Amino acid sequence: MPSPGGERQRVTRFAPSPTGELHLGNARTALFNLLLARGGGGRFLLRIEDTDSERSLEAHAAALMADLRWLGIDWDAGPDREDERGPYRQSQRGALYTQYLALLEGQGAVYPCFCTPLELELSRRAQLTAGRPPRYAGTCRDLSPEERARRAAQGLPATLRFRVPRGERVVFEDFVHGAQTFLTDDIGDFVVRRADGSAAFFFSNAVDDALMGVTQALRGEDHLANTPRQLLILRALALAAPAYGHVALIVGADGAPLSKRHAAVSVREYRERGYQPIALLNHLFRLGHSTALHGLLQLSEMARAFDTAHLGRAPSRFDEPQLRVWQKEAVHRLPAEAARGWLAPLLPAGLDERARDAFIAALLPNVVLPEDARPWVDIVFGGPPPLEPAAEEAVRGAGAGYFSAAAAAAAESGNDLPAIAGAVRAATGRSGASLYMPLRAALTGRAHGPELAPLLKAMPAGKARERLARFA
Ligand code: GLU
Repeated sequence: MPSPGGERQRVTRFAPSPTGELHLGNARTALFNLLLARGGGGRFLLRIEDTDSERSLEAHAAALMADLRWLGIDWDAGPDREDERGPYRQSQRGALYTQYLALLEGQGAVYPCFCTPLELELSRRAQLTAGRPPRYAGTCRDLSPEERARRAAQGLPATLRFRVPRGERVVFEDFVHGAQTFLTDDIGDFVVRRADGSAAFFFSNAVDDALMGVTQALRGEDHLANTPRQLLILRALALAAPAYGHVALIVGADGAPLSKRHAAVSVREYRERGYQPIALLNHLFRLGHSTALHGLLQLSEMARAFDTAHLGRAPSRFDEPQLRVWQKEAVHRLPAEAARGWLAPLLPAGLDERARDAFIAALLPNVVLPEDARPWVDIVFGGPPPLEPAAEEAVRGAGAGYFSAAAAAAAESGNDLPAIAGAVRAATGRSGASLYMPLRAALTGRAHGPELAPLLKAMPAGKARERLARFA
């Protein structure tokens, strides 16, 4: 099957507006575009859509890029990696937009609109009240040249609107949703240049895709209805349009668009809570994209498996328990150094290397997030832990002889579990759970937890003896 976009080298892009944090929906869009490019040996571009200077912040752009990099989503060209198709910040492309707007002006495909925001709002409300979908009423579409000149001479602010042809159909193939038909009579004349002179979204986004050679624009479904407008612009400019595909939104458990009500929505929050990027990527990869592959996949495996034919049309549910499953797998596979970095912020200062490594070895199979390790930091490195009821019962059932043998062996062996258990076995004849459970209970205050031998190794020697001696 030919790939959408045909035979040209595949070029995809992620085009965020830096008006806030990178949220999960956008991160998934970026991921899919990266995979689409990588899978076909193509190029992946990052374009910052910051023409709306009131809402765009440089700090947001920098944070977006840092979040993408943290996820492992890297671009071939972008604002920090310019090439001949750049600049990749729309705020630096003003001259190009002026040039292409002038072409539209030359053909009479656009006209100045002097309607004030209040007038537009009143017209919108009147249409809604009449039960009609609101669109621009065409007030300034047919002003005479003299009238336009008169208003311009008065210094009235004007936007530039695209003159949508009447009575036509815009037909295109969305590579997720299939054939689409829109009637131009349902589309109001829309703004291509704001009153402050900056290029508006429909225009700059479409023109940039064409000028940057984008072959496939995969984006959120909220842009599906924008596509006919953008195709009209590109047609008027005789520029090649990318193939467009629109992925369904991510929803929460109740089916409503994912929001803070359901879960953390920014990539930053997941990073700060200790989620591994590969866990997040694995969940996002399967949100709205079906795959027969099981298990935690690396980006290169995802790129080989990614297929636009497997993109679903129905909204997909973000599921934190499922994310935790990936996270658990990712944590189990953490290389030693990464695990040290991951838990380091929790560990007491000045901890010796041996104790640190033993603690991490004990905890890693038992935690999903660093916060799960926090109680164990207190248990292992803090004062003697209070006993849970089950632990208390185990301690009480063991008797004083048990603990005097254990404390003596701890003093001698330097926290060696087999040595301590051997001494207790010799003194009491216990074996199995009845041998180990009271040790665990006295040392940790709990009846269950991570493997005891490495936990004991992490514990300062005097501390283990002291905890056992409490019950001797
Ligand atoms: N800047 C737009 C957004 O963030 C880009 C839409 C697109 O990908 O075309 O929604």
